[in-house]
Amino acid sequence: MNKPVKLVAGNWKMHGTSADLGEVAAVAEAARALTGRVDVALCLPATLIHRATVEVPGLSIGAQDIHMADKGAHTGDVCAAMLHDAGATLSIVGHSERRDAHREDDSCVKAKAEAALRSGLGVILCVGESDAERVSGLAVPIVTEQLRASLPREGATADGFAVAYEPIWAIGTGKVPSVEDIAEMHAALRRTLVEELGSVGQDVRILYGGSVKASNATEIFSVADVNGALVGGASLRAADFLPIVEAAAAAR
Ligand code: PEP
Repeated sequence: MNKPVKLVAGNWKMHGTSADLGEVAAVAEAARALTGRVDVALCLPATLIHRATVEVPGLSIGAQDIHMADKGAHTGDVCAAMLHDAGATLSIVGHSERRDAHREDDSCVKAKAEAALRSGLGVILCVGESDAERVSGLAVPIVTEQLRASLPREGATADGFAVAYEPIWAIGTGKVPSVEDIAEMHAALRRTLVEELGSVGQDVRILYGGSVKASNATEIFSVADVNGALVGGASLRAADFLPIVEAAAAAR
């Protein structure tokens, strides 16, 4: 079956205020020109989502996290209905920074993914190994097991659900795995998705994330089963992000 176009999603993390909406607008304009060749999304801080969707219509704007409950006594958290209300169309779940700093385990990540999908939000589910796990030689079984345990059991579709393989040691470090290692991991994740989700798993996009930039994007996008990228630091400025988006459009 033909793979859908690649998805390039930016993760602004805890960066950006309304002064940066010009960057969102520049990404939206370029993404519009590439419609049908690449899908583009920006996962912004929660405080910027509504303003971005109002001032820059037409670009997929996402959140970086979501609570698994529909509402309730969860100080500081944001639920699916709030994200819909703000205009978001997707959310990252299970980013390693949240798994680490907020002690989110696989069952928590799974519940968040299911809550988002149930509400009609798209999901980018992150998995990845630590430096020590890579050195141990066990990265593939560890990450595939992480995926199996975090995977939503309901609601995953090829359009609305993506997995991001993000080796923790590659995030924000400038280090990137070899293309052979990326290929091995993405093939293993694909097998796991098919085992768990059947034919849907064949078409779910698997993104690579970790120090993607203009200079390495073309090589990464040439790897089998790399269906896009989750981009942190290089997504903050349109001038850095758009060459990655263009490389994904060209790689199709
Ligand atoms: C990320 O945090 O999701 C990420 C991929 O970051 P960076 O691109 O900065 O490594």
